[in-house]
Amino acid sequence: MLHRAVALNAPLIDATPDEFRVALVEWIDARGTELQPTYHDHGTTAQLLDHQRDLQRLLFDDGWMRWGWPTSVGGIGGSPLFRAILGEELTTRGLVHSAAWSMTEVLGPAVVHFAPALATEVVPPMLRGDERWCQGFSEPDAGSDLGSLRTTARHSGDDWIIDGQKLWTSWAHHAQRCIVLARTEDGVAGSRGITAFFVDMGSPGIDVRPLQTMADVDEFCEMFFDAVRVPDSRVIGKRGEGWAVAQHILACERGPIFWQRGGWLLRHLAEVAQLTEPGDARAEQLLANAYAQVIALRARSRATQRLVAAGHLRGADSSIDKVLIAAADQAVFDAARLVFAGEIELDDSDRADRFRKEWMYSRAATIYGGTSEIQRDIIANRLLDLPRGS
Ligand SMILES: Cc1cc2nc3c(=O)[nH]c(=O)nc-3n(C[C@H](O)[C@H](O)[C@H](O)COP(=O)(O)OP(=O)(O)OC[C@H]3O[C@@H](n4cnc5c(N)ncnc54)[C@H](O)[C@@H]3O)c2cc1C
Repeated sequence: MLHRAVALNAPLIDATPDEFRVALVEWIDARGTELQPTYHDHGTTAQLLDHQRDLQRLLFDDGWMRWGWPTSVGGIGGSPLFRAILGEELTTRGLVHSAAWSMTEVLGPAVVHFAPALATEVVPPMLRGDERWCQGFSEPDAGSDLGSLRTTARHSGDDWIIDGQKLWTSWAHHAQRCIVLARTEDGVAGSRGITAFFVDMGSPGIDVRPLQTMADVDEFCEMFFDAVRVPDSRVIGKRGEGWAVAQHILACERGPIFWQRGGWLLRHLAEVAQLTEPGDARAEQLLANAYAQVIALRARSRATQRLVAAGHLRGADSSIDKVLIAAADQAVFDAARLVFAGEIELDDSDRADRFRKEWMYSRAATIYGGTSEIQRDIIANRLLDLPRGS
């Protein structure tokens, strides 16, 4: 299988991003409808993730999913920009949902960076879609203030024993692995004394309970850990230094992943524009405003992709990308709602259902990955050095 992928992709070893894109688009076009989702409108969470798995297998086996990843984790190497181009081409064509696609880009890089030995074992099946991962950070009383998390892990022999509760864990009920933050050091509060663990979701003592979003989708879950054993070899990074792992993951979640989401937004905006009556000044105004916001995001996001490709993952700076995506996301689906006045509230058509779910999901854009209030706080304090209010 690897020989086939390398043979297929060998001419791309020295390709520019544009040449890579041309070759990828040829491959996508040659596949025809084979890559299209078979489910209706948005599909269920299970359908969406199963389709993504099937797509990832095709992409991995033909090499596309391996570009931009190090050879040590089953990649072919090459610029990380190739990963961004792959995500963009798939989401812009509606072949995969941007939200689910981003998980490889949020969690994968941290494991490669902080746990290279473990990564050689666990990253290839994740890239191929054979395994899904989830992110166990938030807790009932620890969201914005993540450093106040209370899940604990105590050392026992060669294992750690995890106890506690996580909340809002996306796709946990469909995941085989989870990156869990837990407090490991006695007498140390806040962001210090936290360790990151790579946990098998099939371990005894894990109870996962799906929650419905307001769009009636079972996207996220609450998770309970009751004396869950995790071996020493599954610590990501160093004991007590999980905050650095968390910051790496949050930097990915707030910046680089929005390149593909931007493609998804442009696709939806184009769909609304095509259905707008020519000469409808109000609709044109709404669309123009949304377009300006998406393009502002794209400009920023393009620069972010280039920095990441050059090895500079930004911390606090990624809060700017996060504020921009939240504004653009809501502007696009607010425009859709007003242009299709009444339709997305009342209609039962596939289009109404798709846009209704997207509009509702866009409300979460100011929350997931850290709320817009928190991002503005980071920008004010850490980037602009503004004085804190009294
Ligand atoms: C769709 C979705 C998917 C998610 N997936 C995951 C996941 O996979 N894994 C995971 O770990 N978490 C996940 N989350 C959780 C997410 O990270 C948290 O919801 C987010 O960090 C906010 O935390 P909270 O919900 O506890 O709100 P809170 O922290 O309780 O905040 C409530 C309100 O108070 C405001 N606020 C809080 N503190 C301050 C402050 N200091 N200054 C100004 N305003 C403040 C906030 O902005 C917000 O408006 C997901 C959330 C959503 C919506």
